[in-house]
Amino acid sequence: MRKRRFGISLPSQVAEELDELASTLEVNRSKLIEEMVSQGMVERGHLLREHRCTGVLMVVTTKGRESELYRVYNEFRGVIKSIAHFHSKGLCMDVLFIEEAESSEIASLEKEIRKVRVSVERYFPVCHLS
Ligand SMILES: [Zn+2]
Ligand SMILES: [Zn+2]
Repeated sequence: MRKRRFGISLPSQVAEELDELASTLEVNRSKLIEEMVSQGMVERGHLLREHRCTGVLMVVTTKGRESELYRVYNEFRGVIKSIAHFHSKGLCMDVLFIEEAESSEIASLEKEIRKVRVSVERYFPVCHLS
């Protein structure tokens, strides 16, 4: 595959950790960045086209934010098929199953969840697998 070269700027600590990780995994820095960007493109790149999407959304927050978060979930109850809720060491973890929802709706849901300032918000689409 043809490759394109371009420079990127990273905070120095991130750059150092990246080098450390590349050395731990015994891959070169370019290869590691390529893998990380590819992963990111699977997670976010599907939003480039309007489609019906199935996937899993993971949300982690500290306890006490649940009511704010559940208000958002309730607003998007037409998009979220089911929710599993777990507790561990002061953290709340939600796994939301989303099936055949409009990709634009999923993007809006993600945006509203991030407004609650959760610790982690990640969507793992499976639309590219079928
Ligand atoms: Zn998708
Ligand atoms: Zn909880």
